[in-house]
Amino acid sequence: MRARRGNVQRPMAPTAPRRRPAVMSSLADRAGGNAAARRPSSAVWPRDQHPLSDPTRNAELQRYEQEVKGAFDRIVPVLQQLSFQQHEPRFPEVAQALAHAELGFALPQPILENAWVGQLDMRTLYAWCVFETYQRISDQFFSDDPLAGNQGEAFEQFLFDCGFHLLDITPCADGRLAHTIAYTLRIPFSCVRRRPHAGALFDIEDTVDRWVRTEHSRFREAKPNSAHEPTRYLKCVVYHFSSVDPSHEGCAAHGSDDAAAASAGMSRLDYFRQAVENGFCCGASVDLLLLGLDTDTDAIRVHVPDRDGHASLEHWLDARDVYEATASFPPDQARQRILELVQEHCPGEADEGMLRFIALLLENNLSQIDYVRQFHGGTYSDAGHAERFIGVGIGFKEIHLRNLTYFAHMDTVEEGSADLDVGIKIFTGLNVSRGLPIPVVVRFDYRSSVPGARERAIGNGERVIQALQNRYSDLYQQGLLHLLLSVRDRNGFDPSETISTTITTVAPGGH
Ligand SMILES: [Zn+2]
Repeated sequence: MRARRGNVQRPMAPTAPRRRPAVMSSLADRAGGNAAARRPSSAVWPRDQHPLSDPTRNAELQRYEQEVKGAFDRIVPVLQQLSFQQHEPRFPEVAQALAHAELGFALPQPILENAWVGQLDMRTLYAWCVFETYQRISDQFFSDDPLAGNQGEAFEQFLFDCGFHLLDITPCADGRLAHTIAYTLRIPFSCVRRRPHAGALFDIEDTVDRWVRTEHSRFREAKPNSAHEPTRYLKCVVYHFSSVDPSHEGCAAHGSDDAAAASAGMSRLDYFRQAVENGFCCGASVDLLLLGLDTDTDAIRVHVPDRDGHASLEHWLDARDVYEATASFPPDQARQRILELVQEHCPGEADEGMLRFIALLLENNLSQIDYVRQFHGGTYSDAGHAERFIGVGIGFKEIHLRNLTYFAHMDTVEEGSADLDVGIKIFTGLNVSRGLPIPVVVRFDYRSSVPGARERAIGNGERVIQALQNRYSDLYQQGLLHLLLSVRDRNGFDPSETISTTITTVAPGGH
């Protein structure tokens, strides 16, 4: 069914491997200086780092991870301290001072003032702190762009050069893949359309719609490039597995069976391509790429496709093997060898642009492998779930950290109930078992250019909130489920807007 592929001419690739230094150095520039220039020659390069690793970028990413996760992880110790002090004189004053010093925001005064008549309402305080922290890191993301994800011109040009006008990636919605774009693959988030789904099982009709919209805008507005340019829409799936505990900590949606996860991802991709090819004429097609991610080491595996899009499920190129094979080379030779390795793993005639794109992903992933080695001892200590809150709805552009958020992407609760039930089960273990509530951020992004979109987004969110309160009414009645509704205009790069929360801070019996 790939016969029509020949109708679209690709830019001719040179027979010799392409030089990519222009793209690489400008990518490094955006990350805070020319990393290539900063790197010592291989003779003095630290032996525990790969010569293509970017230690400066790694340090920046680690600072951001520590800052954000640290903000969430300070909440419980602060609340424990308040619990000990709640019957002491001037408690509200002392508590606010501690909250400001440790957490950076105020606590709801009525809850503190009512502590003397009984017990401090820890469940509400906890949810309050999680929501405040979420809002602060979310606002900071949009105001400061801490991951420099908006500076993607060089990467975008690289994508075009490889023959792609749009990169659409579906990782699994598991929180251990939330950093796939910014950390694992080191792609500026402005250059990618990210749509996580449980089991990485993206919605085919929805993706065909997105493809149609993309092609339409190329014809009408030449965005992101003219429809006359011989480039393709690249759809990529990232399934996951665990090298440390393969039979338990893999993808829950596929029973921790990585072969099943890979096979399901591949068949989704094939169906998507068939849908485009069967539904549209004139050589319409898309390019496909299947990646696996080891959630313990963040090393990727690439099922390298041939120029007709066929890839082997049983054979892949593992970034750890690439790391070992190239660690002793100077940077230029290492880059050259990576490209050769990709070529060697291609099961048929290769597409040069795809090979170069995969080579860059692998090169970027080497930095992440070193990141996990340097800052997490080679494998993450939280092999399983350790998310801080559940994110429900559509959006969350600001979430780029591993194990921060359990995602349940949905328009309606009926549509996403299976994902939600899994999330509630996970948080029953993480939070409810310790007497802490499950914090859920409901989020619906909208486009302000569409009349009435904000109101519809709020309406969708309110329906989801109501449905969540009904579906998990026991938890909600006990104060063990708290919800925050926010919406965000995706036409710009502005922070989200909080519409409501289930937190009431009036005195018990007063509402
Ligand atoms: Zn999964």
